[in-house]
Amino acid sequence: MSRVRAVFFDPDGTRYATRRQLRAQGLCPGRQPIAAQILWRGVGGTRAAYLYRLDRARPKRAATPAVLAALDKAMPARRTCPTCRQMRLYYIPRSTGECLICQGEPTR
Ligand SMILES: [Zn+2]
Repeated sequence: MSRVRAVFFDPDGTRYATRRQLRAQGLCPGRQPIAAQILWRGVGGTRAAYLYRLDRARPKRAATPAVLAALDKAMPARRTCPTCRQMRLYYIPRSTGECLICQGEPTR
């Protein structure tokens, strides 16, 4: 322990957290820079995890009623196929602008 620099000694994760850990606590990194990164060799090459300082994390922006209403309007629109007018369970791909069924049956 004596050889461990106190600044970096954080076995309980009380000072540093990943973005995912922050989100689990209803926080987001805010405008702080990345405090540290962890690199390791993993599946598909080098993986990285970024750590943020907990004391500089900000509460996650709560969705206001206006934002929620906008989302409510936007979601069905993005899920409705302009060709067949059917609402799908997924977003209509922007690249094609059609649902997958319309793409699969171009003659119809
Ligand atoms: Zn369609």
